[in-house]
This record gives sequence, C-alpha cells and structure tokens, in this order.
Amino acid sequence: MLDDPAPDALEALTEFLYLVPVGLMQFHMDGRVMLANPLAAQFLMPLAPAGDLSDAYSALAPLVPDLARLVHGSTDRTGVILDHRRCEAAGGVVLSVTLHRLHGATMLLVLDDVTRLVEQERRIQADQQRFRAIFDNVRDYAIYTLDAEGCVDGWNPSLQRFGGWQPEDVERRPIEVFFPPEDRAPERMAGMLAEARRTGSLEMEGWRRRRDGSRIWANSVLTALPDEAGGVRGFVAVSRDMTERKRMEDELRRLATTDPLTGASNRRAGQAALAEIFAGPDGAAVLMLDIDHFKSINDRHGHKAGDEALCSLVATCRAVLPAGTPVIRWGGEEFLIVLPGAADAAAMAETLRAAIAATEVTLAEGALCMTASLGVATGGDRSPEALLQRADAALYAAKRGGRNRVEQAPVQAG
Ligand code: GH3
Ligand code: MG
Ligand code: MG
Repeated sequence: MLDDPAPDALEALTEFLYLVPVGLMQFHMDGRVMLANPLAAQFLMPLAPAGDLSDAYSALAPLVPDLARLVHGSTDRTGVILDHRRCEAAGGVVLSVTLHRLHGATMLLVLDDVTRLVEQERRIQADQQRFRAIFDNVRDYAIYTLDAEGCVDGWNPSLQRFGGWQPEDVERRPIEVFFPPEDRAPERMAGMLAEARRTGSLEMEGWRRRRDGSRIWANSVLTALPDEAGGVRGFVAVSRDMTERKRMEDELRRLATTDPLTGASNRRAGQAALAEIFAGPDGAAVLMLDIDHFKSINDRHGHKAGDEALCSLVATCRAVLPAGTPVIRWGGEEFLIVLPGAADAAAMAETLRAAIAATEVTLAEGALCMTASLGVATGGDRSPEALLQRADAALYAAKRGGRNRVEQAPVQAG
C-alpha cells in the first residue's frame, strides 16, 4: 500500500495491522482489494462468496449491498463516505462499518465488532422499557424523583391520581410541597434528605398533602441515587396511599380503648393513661366518682334512662374539666378522672359535683336529676394503685357522709 517502504517501517506496519482491534481493508474504486488485515479477513471470509476477498464489491455485497453506489456516488476526493453503519455479519455478529476515501481512487474500510455494545444497548433499552412500564402503570404507588437539592424532577401518573397534582404544581418544587404545613419546617425537610443520604434509604409514614389541601396518610420510602463520585445525584420517593388502613386502625384503636355506651375511655385505656400521668414530672391526682342511688334511677325510669344518665354524666365531665382530661368508665356507674398532680383536684371535684347536680337529664318521658359522690386523692403515693385506693376510701367516706359530696383523702406525707 505504500511505495517502497523501508524494511523497518514495513515490519512496524505489518505488526500494527495484526494488532489493531478493528478490521481494515484497503481497495481501489474498481474493486481490487489491496490490503486486508487478519481481522477484516476473519469478519469477511464467511460472508464473501467462496471466501474470496479479491474483489471488494462482491466480498462486501452481503454486508454493504449499496457499496458500489456509495463509492461511485461520492464526489469529494477525500472524506468519510459511510460513518459507523451497523451491519449484521455472520453468526449474529454486528459490525460497525466506516468507509473513507483516502485519496483519489483508494478506499479504506474500517470494521469494528460492536456485537457486545449492541447487546448492552438492547439490555439497557429493555431495562428502561421495563422500568417505564412499572413507573407509568403501577397504580397503587406514586413515584417521584428529586434532584440533589430535593426538588421534584420526575413523577408517575399515580401522583396525580393520589394527590390531584398537576405537573406545573410540582415541577422544580421542593419536596415540602407534599407535606402539611405543620410538618414543613425547612430543617425537618433537610434532616429527612440528610438521613436518606446517610443511610441510602429512609422509610416514613405520616400525613401528606393533596393539591386541594386535604390529607392522605402515606407510607413512603425515600431512596438516595448515588452518583459516580460517591455522592448523591438525587432521590426517588415511592409512596403508597394508606389512608384507608390508617382510618381502620384508628377506628380499631378507638373501639379497643373506649366504652361503647358513653364514649369515655375504658378501664384498660384508663389504667394506661393513669400510669403515664403518674410517671410524669408532676405526678397524678385522681377523682373517683360514683353516681348516687343509681339503682333507683334504673328502677324508677328504666334501664334505658339509666344509660342516658350515664352518657349525660360523661358529657358534663367533658364540659367542666380541662380539654383532654381522661374520663374513664371504671365500672358500672363509677368513673375515674385523672388530673395532673399540679391541678387543684379538690376544687375541680367540687365544680364537677355541682355541675352534675345542676344538670337535668332530658328523657322522652320527662327529665331526671342525679347527684354523684367523689373521692379525691392527690400525689405522694408509691404507685397508681395506692393512689386509687386512697381515692376509693375517700369516695366511701363521701357516701357515708351523706352522698352528693366531695371527700379528700388525707394528704400523703413525702
Ligand atoms: P350508691 O349511691 O351507694 O352508689 O347506690 P347505687 O344504687 O348507685 O349503687 P349500686 O352499686 O348498688 O348500684 C349500681 C347500679 O348501676 C346497679 C346496676 O344495675 C347499674 N348499672 C351498672 N351499669 C349500668 C349500665 O350500663 N346501665 C344502666 N342503666 N345501669 C347500670
Ligand atoms: Mg352508685
Ligand atoms: Mg357503684
């Protein structure tokens, strides 16, 4: 191919042609093959009729059927005529074919085996299609992606179905757009992203915000997407609407902790509330309340009227006592009220007693009045049980003392 090359240069060229990882073939425009390196021969021999590589056009016909047209159609004296065209060779091999016009009538064909590259591309494409199918069609999960700063840069259609969000509402907005106002503190959002960055993946459950401001209870997994430099390129969040499950759990919890007749806490929930307040910094004070002559209310007005009286009593407790005060149906017509140790329990007991006595329970057939007796015990006890025992004793004293009254247990020393 070169005129009279020096022996050293020829040796170097031969070595180069053997070692170069692409197939090279030089040919004249008229088809005469001037040179083909071993790799070109390896690619083309199985294709060429009778394995004959002497004529470029017939040898390459199965691979580049339009070779003659390309060569003769090129008007430039030098340059690329065919640029990395992918062609199927024998045995599933894919070759990338490039054709240069070197000078005048001399052509150089470069063949590169891209079979593995094509295979990889197909696999990546299949993965992308599979991912896209999941991303777009999964109905129970909203999926969205965030950039490294925590701003939304991608989402699937479920985000609209769950939250009513339109692309323009969320695009480039920080993740806090999905959180209700009370959870939206910047340091909280930053802490959440930092935690996902640190641990790789963070699972959360809580209230999230729909576009219209209503709420959705969601379980979310926030996963950090690593970049090549070992940092975090962004995040993907997968959220599931658990509102219905949350509603059912709350309802079950309510049923398990309340008295179905009056809506007061049941004894078990009451014991837990007492233990918690008792263990708090101020300790607990308790009122033990028992309706006076309740049996005779039942006897005179009927059991149903008795039930209504119990409900009325709980309503009076709720109206009189500070909001959130545990009112517990301890048994039958006996109620326990738990107050913080710092409260003026005796005064509250007296207010409550007076309110109960002043309340008329309206029944279908008229109205009934009732009174209650209360025992008060404040602080200083070793255990909630000891506190209850003293309140019980005080209640007993109130009953003995004539009912419709408050008795306070003697204050415990130390
Ligand atoms: P005292 O003033 O000494 O407390 O007298 P009392 O009649 O209130 O006391 P007693 O313990 O003798 O009677 C309690 C009654 O409460 C007996 C029971 O039938 C009634 N009772 C308990 N639970 C309910 C209920 O859920 N509904 C109705 N209507 N009555 C109930
Ligand atoms: Mg009673
Ligand atoms: Mg009783």
